[in-house]
Amino acid sequence: YIQQASETQLPRYVRVNTLKTTVEDVIDYFKREGFSYQGRATRLTDLHSLAGNTFLCDLHIPDVLVFPHKKDFHDHFLYQAGHVILQDKASCLPAYLLNPPPGALVLDACAAPGNKTSHLAAIMRNKGKLFAFDLDAKRLSNMSTLLLRAGVTCQQLAHQDFLQIDPESPQYSGVEYILLDPSCSGSGMVWLHDSSPAPPEEEKNRLQALAAFQQRCLNHALRFPRLQRVVYSTCSIHKQENEEVVTACLKDNQGYRLVSLLPSWPERGLPPLTQCLRASTSKTLTHGFFVALLERQVPGAEDD
Ligand code: SAM
Repeated sequence: YIQQASETQLPRYVRVNTLKTTVEDVIDYFKREGFSYQGRATRLTDLHSLAGNTFLCDLHIPDVLVFPHKKDFHDHFLYQAGHVILQDKASCLPAYLLNPPPGALVLDACAAPGNKTSHLAAIMRNKGKLFAFDLDAKRLSNMSTLLLRAGVTCQQLAHQDFLQIDPESPQYSGVEYILLDPSCSGSGMVWLHDSSPAPPEEEKNRLQALAAFQQRCLNHALRFPRLQRVVYSTCSIHKQENEEVVTACLKDNQGYRLVSLLPSWPERGLPPLTQCLRASTSKTLTHGFFVALLERQVPGAEDD
């Protein structure tokens, strides 16, 4: 079930870092370099047919530009200067959909290496507070560098286990928005061919342990007293790490409901969780991905 790179050639997605520049300025920069701008895409097939020095604005996520698959911008000035972030389109969905307003108290639970954290900061326009945790010191230190380059200033990083954070503590009890992108099997990533897959029994145990961890994390997120919305995402294609985690948490936390996401997105969560999004190389021209948005129910409000 691990998709192979040879199966498809994904476009190159470039997220404009609006903390440092604007989409218009980045488009102009690329045009001056000889790229030909084709406007905003209207269909997914527009992304598929990009070739040569052409590029487009994405049809779903406004700050994302799309280039042909062969383009590599790791040495490009705009990337080196933090004006653009090289991030798969699917992984831009969580921050975009959580959409915390400037001034909000936001928590990124499993944050390193920080692409989604920097996206959240851009949406918040660096206003408010963005707590970001990770268990891995090395990844956290890379994250500091990335956030510095991206001009993020509203963050408070901590080398912390999210599960050990007390939701009722004075420091965190005001958190209103949580992005939860926990460790997962990574089965949606378009890896180079993995020639030595784990034996089925080992793989089964690994998935079970990951799903249990993810469920604990989501349940923990839902315990923050002022929480309004939490976005849950994985780069896994397994139902066990995606719809099953969300279903179990909704069952245990009656005060939350799923928000119906992006009607125009072509791939939905597996029934009955069609409010959620899935992504894949074949249907959305991205890595495999899953996103759910849970919202606290206002007492007396109607369900949609
Ligand atoms: N959100 C990140 C991004 O977009 O750049 C990617 C996060 S990655 C999928 C999962 C991260 O969770 C890893 O960096 C891992 O070290 C961290 N992690 C795992 N268990 C954790 C825990 N209990 N508390 C905090 N972070 C944890």
